[in-house]
Amino acid sequence: MSSLPVLRGRAGINSLLSSQDANPKVAKNSKLGQLTAVLHLAPGNMSGHEVCPKRSPGCTAACLHFAGNPLYQDAKTKARIAKTKLFFDNRNLFMNILALEITNHILRARKKKMEPSFRLNGTSDICFELKKFILYPETAAIIRKRISKTNLDAKNIINMFPSAQFYDYTALPERVVPPNYHLTFSMKENNLQGVRQAIKSKMNIAVVFPLREIPSAYNIDDIEYQVIRGDDHDYRPADPKSVIVGLKVKGTSGKKDTTGFVQRVPNFSVGENRPGIRSKFSGHDVQSPTVQGQIQKVNQMLEHLNEYFKIMAALNSVGKTQPLMAVGLKAKLDSLAKRTQSQHLRNRISKVLQESVKTTA
Ligand code: SF4
Repeated sequence: MSSLPVLRGRAGINSLLSSQDANPKVAKNSKLGQLTAVLHLAPGNMSGHEVCPKRSPGCTAACLHFAGNPLYQDAKTKARIAKTKLFFDNRNLFMNILALEITNHILRARKKKMEPSFRLNGTSDICFELKKFILYPETAAIIRKRISKTNLDAKNIINMFPSAQFYDYTALPERVVPPNYHLTFSMKENNLQGVRQAIKSKMNIAVVFPLREIPSAYNIDDIEYQVIRGDDHDYRPADPKSVIVGLKVKGTSGKKDTTGFVQRVPNFSVGENRPGIRSKFSGHDVQSPTVQGQIQKVNQMLEHLNEYFKIMAALNSVGKTQPLMAVGLKAKLDSLAKRTQSQHLRNRISKVLQESVKTTA
């Protein structure tokens, strides 16, 4: 009988799934009674096989694969590459090992009186619901002997274990998955269309923010969504519906992101030297090229306005009349506020205009 050690030996790998304790965030799933096992493959095309068909430059650089202790990075990468190669070179062997590891994990969870859950795309974005394979008769016999609620005639791993919960992040908005597979859509710097499609399909959207800047709400196409703290645990099936899952950026490269993958809130102040007109811009807009362009334009205009106030203060002549230059800039801001599709931008411009009027009145 081909037991798990025999199959692993044939494949030349150790285990496919990592235990819950290997990842501090996944470990927090135990608060919800979940015992979660994660499959980590080598992301992108690191193994010579592409496992993230919709990755972006931003997410590739900030990928979770590179977070963690650098001392173990080489060994970790080597092991993940070996697993990924096995997935592509010998799908049946890979999936039979996975099926046996899933069985063991389900038994382990039961022993601990917890619910078994699985994240198969810890560092990949593979449609496991479409990956067919043949279960070896020996593997099927072992599984049947150990657990009852299975569907061993199913063609994919998700349907094979209907009583276990699977979940993942994905950037593929069109996936149609079985009821025991929960997906959260990953927003990147270049996939606004995918975000819209995912919202239509009632998926929650995961958005990466800088460490200390997770907002309480976030706008997509002028609709404000509640942001929940996605780092409190990793068990996404427990999330409420129609929310943004706010994730803190991880890893050194992620913290240095300049692509827009990390949704930095643009901050700037007007009138640094004049508390009366200090105003913060903090739009939580999806940074589409149009809105980004508008933000830059507003930044420039506000800088000019700020300059103007500095000059006027230097000349000690801020008075009751507003010279033409300021009036012109304000008119431009006003017109932009009317044209922009961004509610946040409108609100901020209106606040800045009110404050500047107060100062010069
Ligand atoms: S899609 Fe996910 S796993 Fe793949 S490179 Fe981007 S962040 Fe990493």
